[in-house]
Amino acid sequence: MKTATDNLLNSNPFDFSSSAKKLFVESFRENALHHYKSHEFTRKLWDHLKFHPQLIKTESDLEKVPGTMVHLFKEHEFCSVSKEDLALILTSSGTGGQKSHQFLDALSLENVKKLALNIHRALGMSSDKEYNYLCFTYDPKIANDLGTAFTDELLTNFTGKKEVYYAIQWNEEKQEFSLNEEGVIETLRKFAASNTPTRILGFPAFLYEMIEKYDLQLNLGPESWLQTGGGWKGKADKEIPKQEFRKFIQARLGIPESHQRDLFGMVEHGIPYVDCEQGNLHIPNYARVYVRSPYDLSLLKKGETGLIHFLCSYNFSYPAPSLLTTDYGRLESCSCSLGGDVLVLTGRAGVTKHKGCALTALSLLRN
Ligand SMILES: [Zn+2]
Repeated sequence: MKTATDNLLNSNPFDFSSSAKKLFVESFRENALHHYKSHEFTRKLWDHLKFHPQLIKTESDLEKVPGTMVHLFKEHEFCSVSKEDLALILTSSGTGGQKSHQFLDALSLENVKKLALNIHRALGMSSDKEYNYLCFTYDPKIANDLGTAFTDELLTNFTGKKEVYYAIQWNEEKQEFSLNEEGVIETLRKFAASNTPTRILGFPAFLYEMIEKYDLQLNLGPESWLQTGGGWKGKADKEIPKQEFRKFIQARLGIPESHQRDLFGMVEHGIPYVDCEQGNLHIPNYARVYVRSPYDLSLLKKGETGLIHFLCSYNFSYPAPSLLTTDYGRLESCSCSLGGDVLVLTGRAGVTKHKGCALTALSLLRN
């Protein structure tokens, strides 16, 4: 029983009243105490920095929680429960020694599914209606431990579903994954002709290149949606600004701009940051995002760009409640009705790029 975290996850993700914010403070303390007791590295790090989870009493105390650098999670298998208690191990599909992991026991898995549903529901993205799905990801039957496949299977469960087409398929002959381009085009044409609306999930670069290469001009209808994620990694030279991309998709596929939503997530963190109607990544009350100076990690003001520091409280098996990333970004406001801050991503620190799911998957695109 994790009472404080249950209370938080039973609350509206975009309620920013002082009582709702207090639910996060309490949940975070509960979670941090668990990791402090169960994970030796975290305990020693916090002891060394003279931080104890019991010190977290108010919102401003959260800013004092030391961050654990993201690369430590790539190099070590950090886990706060015994391995036998894990329900799922998620990895990014990256190669070259920088694989990202996320360990989930049954409770943490249930928590992450619940918070993802709450966030999508609050954004008006869940529905009882049936949709056809085109997913530009790995078939989860084969790649269920990959972060992207997991996310897509999770997202398809937020609505009724009719047909689901996974575009990256296992090629038995070549013993590797490849993008079935002909299958994608055939599926898009079939979905456009059907009475059931469509939801497309995947990397924006995949879709952009397919539309250009096959000169697609379809009308999937005003009830259809596009849910992107993973960014333009590896295809950054072709990246189109988000607002321009939204117009392009509306013109070429008939999906309204307000139904095009991007999602930012990190395997090590697990909280989905999802676009509102206006195309801004909203930060739910299930997390805190701080922006810090790359020189001394001091807290920067809203609007200033620096390293992103994430806090979350739902995961009791993976000791990353306070994660210091190598991503650059800033906090801003949005004029929509959701409230809270929005996260603007501006790039990555350092010269060594982390090879993530998006990068590896993009290398499958034929030029
Ligand atoms: Zn907004």
